[in-house]
Parts: sequence; structure tokens; C-alpha cells
Amino acid sequence: MTLVRPQVARMSGYVPGEQPQEAGWTKLNTNENPYPASPAVAEAIARAAQRLAIYPDPLGRKFSQAAAEVLGVEPDCILPANGSDEVLTILMRTFVDAGETIAFPYPSYILYETLAEIQGANSIRLPLRPDWSWDVDAVRRHTEGCKIVFVPNPNSPSGNLWDDETLLRLLPKDGILVIDEAYRDFADRPRSFDLLRSEAGGRIVFTRTFSKSYSLAGLRLGFAVARPDLISEMRKVKDSYNCDTLSLAAGEAAIRDQEWMRANVDKIRVTRKRLDDTLRACGFETVTSQANFVWCRHPSGNHQQIYEGLKSRKVLVRLMKFPGAFAGCDQGHFTGLRITVGTDAETDRFLEELEATLALMT
Ligand code: PMP
Repeated sequence: MTLVRPQVARMSGYVPGEQPQEAGWTKLNTNENPYPASPAVAEAIARAAQRLAIYPDPLGRKFSQAAAEVLGVEPDCILPANGSDEVLTILMRTFVDAGETIAFPYPSYILYETLAEIQGANSIRLPLRPDWSWDVDAVRRHTEGCKIVFVPNPNSPSGNLWDDETLLRLLPKDGILVIDEAYRDFADRPRSFDLLRSEAGGRIVFTRTFSKSYSLAGLRLGFAVARPDLISEMRKVKDSYNCDTLSLAAGEAAIRDQEWMRANVDKIRVTRKRLDDTLRACGFETVTSQANFVWCRHPSGNHQQIYEGLKSRKVLVRLMKFPGAFAGCDQGHFTGLRITVGTDAETDRFLEELEATLALMT
């Protein structure tokens, strides 16, 4: 007898990046922001801590009001959640039945596939071209019958940004297009939510997070932006109190301090350019990034060795393997390193240790 649902027993589960809890690491593996959150956040948490005996507002209305003002949408277009990963879970539970199908670009964020497995849904990996562009005509044949097409934009691990025109061509006929904007604040072009007012707008959901540009990965807060009719259906499947009093208060303070967030993002964008230039000078192939990380591949293909060499020097980066991506690459296992953009000092440390690691390899 098996106690566990067969689809859960079969799956291996999503493996998040390593989170060492001891000091001394230069941690460039999970795209956290190296700069602290706005001081208004700690003040808001201290005030909210007076109110912990009672439940939070199940709708997070004050937070939604603040987010709506900043993004230029109505408050009932916002659904806060316990990180944007929870938004993705809510989307899957709202729109996709067991046996139905979702799709996502490949290589990209593999959690979409894991969530589909949990739901008993099928998933289709939509192959990207080696330059990370879409062959939209080829891909559209596969997206037509999907209930959700998930697209991280900027993409992870590559950091490239696709334009809305391209993404709209992936909108399924009877389904939803989820544009996962975890990293959008780091891109050159800001998002206009006017798209929600267009004809296609009733079938588009954006997801956002406080984990990256707002320096609050430890808090666990994200949100969806969509038309109110979709948001009200999504509310039915979320936990009653999916966001706690502290994170709602912190998120409200963080999103109202746009100046603070933008100043940190600007610093990261400058360091990103230097990191990219230096990696190229060291012989790596990189993708010009619109996010807070840089994807790179070394001509030796020794990504495992480079990752381990760095780790032995207490520098953590993300080694990623995408079986079957870009036919013919790396004997079927496309690999590379995703480096989070840290402070200038962290980036210097990474580059020094990288140089030492590469020197030992030759
Ligand atoms: N989407 C993408 C593309 C991500 O890389 C991440 C971070 N792992 C998330 C969503 C989730 O972020 P969070 O749950 O911290 O909001």
C-alpha cells in the first residue's frame, strides 16, 4: 500500500539554492539583494509587532492600496502572498486541473514544472534558441491548448528580457499568460500595467516579489497583479491568512520608498556591467543581463569544477544543469554558472577567487 499520492511519490521536488547559515560566505547563488531594505521597513515592523495578538487582514488591504498607488492600478488588482512562489501555487490551483497542461520556456525557472507535478498536471518545456530567443511560430503550436503559459521576464538563469509583443503571441487561446516579473525592477524598461486594460488583459497575470529589488527575501512577500475578476477567483484558493501582519506592514513601507529601492537597483546595475565585462575578459561567454545576476559559460565546460573551486574558497554561485536544452550542447546536459550581482566588494572577492580557481585548472 502506498500512503502518498502517486504523482508526489514519483517526483523529486524542487531543490532551492544552498542557504548556509554560518558567517564568512560570499553568497552569490540565490539572487538576493546585497544592500539593506529601506529603514522604513524596520520601523513598520516594530509598530506592527504591537498587533500580533490578532489575525492579520486576510485581504492585506493597506498593502494592496500602497502597491496599487505605486504601480498605477486599482487596489482590487493586487493579491499579496507568501512570496511570489506562493502566487505561482495559487495560480496553479486556481486555473489548472489534474490532467490539464501548462508550459514554460526552457531553460528557465524549473519550479513551474514542480508545481504542475504536484497538481497532477502535464507540463511542456518550450525550447528556446541558443541565443535565448523564441521561435514563436514553432512554440505556439504547443501553447494553444495550455491552461497557463508561465514566462519569467527577465528570464532566469539568462537574465534576458523579451518584449511584450513577443510574449502576447504566446497567450493561450483558452488560458492565462503569467508574466513572472521577479526581476523586472532591474531591467532598462519599466513595466506599464496598461496591458491589463487591453483586450488580452483579462487573461494576463503579473507576479512580483519583495525578495530581490526590495532586499526582503527573508520576509516572504510577493503579489499578483491582474484584473479584479481573476484576483477574486484566486482569493478563494489562498490560505485565509497567507500573509502575516509583519510582512504586510513591511511590504507597505518598502513599496512606498521607491527612492530607496531605485538607488539600490542603480548600484546593482552598475556592478552588473563590471561583472559582465570582467567575466568576458576572463574568457567566459555571458548573456547581457536585465536582472540582478549574470549567466556565464566557460569554454572549458568545467562548470562543476569552477563551482567547487569557488565553494572551497567560501564563494557560492549557482551551478545549473538543464538536461536536453539546446540540442547538442554539453552531451545533452547544458550547464553554466549563474552569478548574483553583489556589492562591489563581494564582486571583487568573487573575481579574485575565480581567477585563482581558473589558474589551478590550466
Ligand atoms: N520567479 C523567479 C523567476 C525566481 O527566480 C524566483 C526566485 N527563486 C521566484 C519567482 C520566487 O521568489 P520569491 O518566492 O522569493 O518571491
